[in-house]
Amino acid sequence: MSMPTIKQVRAFTLRGGGADYHDQGGGHWIDDHIATPMSKYPAYRQSRQSFGINVLGTLVVEVEASDGTVGFAVTTGGELGCWIIEKHLARFVEGALVTDIERIWDQMYQSTLYYGRKGIVLNTISGVDLALWDLLAKVRGEPVHALLGGPVRDELQFYATGARPDLAREMGFIGGKLPLHHGPAEGEEGMRRNLELLATMRERVGDDFWLMYDCWMSLDVDYATRLAARAAEYGLKWIEEALPPDDYWGYAELRRKVPRGMLVTTGEHEATRWGFRMLLEMGCCDIIQPDVGWCGGLTELLKISSLADAHGKMVVPHGSSVYSYHFVVTRHNSPFAEFLMMAPGADEVVPMFHPQLLDEPVPVNGRMKASVLDSPGFGVRLNPDCALHRPFAR
Ligand SMILES: [Mg+2]
Repeated sequence: MSMPTIKQVRAFTLRGGGADYHDQGGGHWIDDHIATPMSKYPAYRQSRQSFGINVLGTLVVEVEASDGTVGFAVTTGGELGCWIIEKHLARFVEGALVTDIERIWDQMYQSTLYYGRKGIVLNTISGVDLALWDLLAKVRGEPVHALLGGPVRDELQFYATGARPDLAREMGFIGGKLPLHHGPAEGEEGMRRNLELLATMRERVGDDFWLMYDCWMSLDVDYATRLAARAAEYGLKWIEEALPPDDYWGYAELRRKVPRGMLVTTGEHEATRWGFRMLLEMGCCDIIQPDVGWCGGLTELLKISSLADAHGKMVVPHGSSVYSYHFVVTRHNSPFAEFLMMAPGADEVVPMFHPQLLDEPVPVNGRMKASVLDSPGFGVRLNPDCALHRPFAR
């Protein structure tokens, strides 16, 4: 078969919902007094939007092949991501064969080292990489998971992230992960409220349902250790992203200090095989949680996952819907997946990337058949009703 080449890469912004899932209206659980590294400033404590969690907006990457096939992906990156693609990365993509994914990744990463390595640049590289996988799989007429070696199980099972683990249990999920609401600056009263919510949920869900706390980088080792010790009484399964992502030493210390059986998880804001090598070799956590739209894309996630496998660690990607599912279903060390409850009250299952994506599958009774993922590419379409803006069109 003669392989098509990539004719053009285009970068767009898009506001509201989808990959920019923090850009929500008032009253949504995802912006309701959640503990963050900014919580020490009372003015930025009530809402994450107040300190700018939603400033970037969604980045949509389209890659068009010489045979007319179009691959695309969405991630967080907005106008900055568009600039990086149109002004810099496009040169490595356009004219390449649609199979040139590994070479393109290396050139995108090496050429941006002097200003990249993590953060927005890696978000952007991830977006291009995911669009390239979508394109290649569509050209081949296969789902992305088939290019990764195929499913290793018949179905995915999910835990739910949101404010209502009690409802998640009724909806068939295997666990519920709560956002932590109060950080160290809110003192003993905040600690008491954190434990109270956990106790209430434990009472509602019974003994066998997983409960976790996502701390979104908001704590220090002392607070996290005390929270873990007291939360053990309510069977907390894991404590997630308790510390800032650069504090590898703190994570290693926390992991030594948490009660036996409680897991320490992190990695949502980590990137590349080198970042995760730090987490793994320093004994920072029990589960790594890369976001495939931020850590370097699927090409890099495969390397990160192999590294974790060799360390005997699980990889349970952060959110990201179909971009995660096609990976999770092919990995032995990813036995379950995260589902982000995007209904404002976390009281019903709605597509994570609504309204940006069409045909996005959601779990039913906390599960999803692998066969649901059998359409070509990632199996989703960009909603034509969403207004795309291309700020740096060439
Ligand atoms: Mg998290």
